[in-house]
Amino acid sequence: MSGTLFVISAASGTGKTSLVTALLENTDCVEVSVSHTTRKPRPGELDGVHYHFVSVEEFMQRVGEGGFLEHAEVFGNYYGTARANVEKALAADRDVILEIDWQGAQQVRRQFPDVLTVFIVPPSRDALRQRLQNRGQDSDEVIDRRLAGALEDISHYVEFDYLVINDDFDTALDDLKAVVRAARHRQKLQAIRHLDRLQSLLSV
Ligand code: 5GP
Repeated sequence: MSGTLFVISAASGTGKTSLVTALLENTDCVEVSVSHTTRKPRPGELDGVHYHFVSVEEFMQRVGEGGFLEHAEVFGNYYGTARANVEKALAADRDVILEIDWQGAQQVRRQFPDVLTVFIVPPSRDALRQRLQNRGQDSDEVIDRRLAGALEDISHYVEFDYLVINDDFDTALDDLKAVVRAARHRQKLQAIRHLDRLQSLLSV
């Protein structure tokens, strides 16, 4: 396996998905894993693109079969990362991003000690509340519940390797790109990719 596995986590409303989408547009050799979830699609969300939307029965069957690399319950719905796709991509020297919560990050760390984890932080509590309201798809009660959940999520920041502050979008995107780019140049991985070059340089 020479691809790098990344976990990118954030509290809901932090702009993680927009950042990851922009990152993918500008970066080769990186893909994002499409999770399975039992939550219902939001307007505009497509099955197989944003998530694989499945029933609780189907989700639990996959859990029983060991089909998930990690899975967790978030806000009353189940979410999980299919194991097969991730392992296949890493083996093909592709970097894989898991956009998952801190519970999933803990499970991934135990199985992939080399995983690089990034936590995206909103600039302030006011900005976070504002962003949760701006979605315009949830009631006040849901927003209050999400804000409380978001603060709980943010308290897990210490478990992550990198923190990116999403105050200015372009700066946060640059920071995220820098992390991904640096990871691709780790000696251990570069030595696998460039073995012939290194051997010929050092041959006597
Ligand atoms: P949303 O329903 O707003 O798309 O996502 C809610 C939360 O679930 C977010 O924190 C998101 O990162 C997390 N999430 C999405 N997919 C997965 C997954 O496959 N595993 C885990 N553990 N969390 C996920």
